[in-house]
Amino acid sequence: MDINFSQIPSSIAEKNNEDLITSILIFKAVRYRWLIRFGQIVLPYTLWIPGVKWAIRRTVFKHFCGGETLEETKKIVDHLAAHRVNAISDYSAEQADTKEKQEETRKNILESIRFAGEQHNVPFACVKITGICDRPLLEKISRNEPLTDAEQQRYTEFRNRLDALCAAAAAQDKKFFIDAEETWINPAIDAAAEAMMQRYNGEKQVVYTTIQFYRTDSLAYLQHLIDTADYKIGLKLVRGAYHEQENERAAKMGYPSPVLPNKEAVDKTYNDGLRLCIRHLDKVSFCAATHNTESTELLVQLMQEYNVAPDSRIVSFSQLYGMRDNITYELAGKGYNVSKYIPYGPLKETLPYLIRRAQENAGISSQMSEELQMLMNEKKRRKWRKT
Ligand SMILES: Cc1cc2nc3c(=O)[nH]c(=O)nc-3n(C[C@H](O)[C@H](O)[C@H](O)COP(=O)(O)OP(=O)(O)OC[C@H]3O[C@@H](n4cnc5c(N)ncnc54)[C@H](O)[C@@H]3O)c2cc1C
Repeated sequence: MDINFSQIPSSIAEKNNEDLITSILIFKAVRYRWLIRFGQIVLPYTLWIPGVKWAIRRTVFKHFCGGETLEETKKIVDHLAAHRVNAISDYSAEQADTKEKQEETRKNILESIRFAGEQHNVPFACVKITGICDRPLLEKISRNEPLTDAEQQRYTEFRNRLDALCAAAAAQDKKFFIDAEETWINPAIDAAAEAMMQRYNGEKQVVYTTIQFYRTDSLAYLQHLIDTADYKIGLKLVRGAYHEQENERAAKMGYPSPVLPNKEAVDKTYNDGLRLCIRHLDKVSFCAATHNTESTELLVQLMQEYNVAPDSRIVSFSQLYGMRDNITYELAGKGYNVSKYIPYGPLKETLPYLIRRAQENAGISSQMSEELQMLMNEKKRRKWRKT
């Protein structure tokens, strides 16, 4: 089946003029790395200044997030349903360093799972582990260091939170993604995700762990899972969102960088990951979470080669809200199983997410300019229509 990602998606065509201009300005602004650096350092301290929150809400927040509450995302979820696009409501809290905040995140994610249960086009829910467990603890576990009694208690509480979320997803017959984070905390996340997959992935996958293919050890880890897991494996395949931080930390602390040195190597590894997964569909169900057109086209081609139906439930695609709608809408139009990750939550909580999106877009100028190009083309089309 032919797919064509070069068409302007209806989501861009449907934008009002103000939103279109805002999106263009956002994508133009994020090309400047210094501006993103500046925003990253300054923004968290300026939210109290009158007008700052208002400005963020009207611009980047509106473009990349579904709203501050689950109810606010509902309008977007319904709109996506009309275009055959699935949705994943993603409560964006990832700096939960107190028990109260972790409990609050757990409750919010539980709500999002209940919400998924009521919506026919929300097949997944998701969690970022740093929203329900504190970083120092994850780091210590990842270093394989013995825990004190108090830490062991906190770890048990975290595992109980995660277990409750996975159980709720299973009860609603929904799938549950566990996001991947930085390498210095991810061994603890992998271990918890594997334990949950073992517990909940019986006949079919409920829990999905995430593999970042910018990691030098990603293919070996994938192969190891396939060879050794005595349960069905659920996988979300991503390139990885913390490339800069990984290199910076490795350089600062003097250890070899755990991420691949260039984009070409990451692209090749990601595509090799797709090939490896599709050869093991008896055991693996996976979601290609990517905005990369070559990888998406490759997976479409592999699905044809391996006789996997476009609307198969074992292979799916996903993109982030506010990005690469041309891929999402084209796949949906051709009957593929595709979803949008819709982050939501209090503006302050979503800042790290927004900064990552800006960093990522600054780092990929060619893919980026394609997105900007589509917005500019739509602007030109409207101007021309008027004259
Ligand atoms: C639905 C969804 C869920 C996601 N969940 C997670 C998650 O759980 N954890 C997570 O870490 N990320 C997650 N991401 C983000 C993802 O890892 C990428 O950052 C993002 O999708 C951009 O990568 P891409 O595959 O779309 O492709 P592209 O846009 O083609 O590639 C950009 C990516 O390539 C890599 N890259 C860019 N420049 C270089 C370079 N110079 N050298 C080496 N590598 C480079 C980086 O990984 C960068 O993010 C998710 C993305 C989506 C769409």
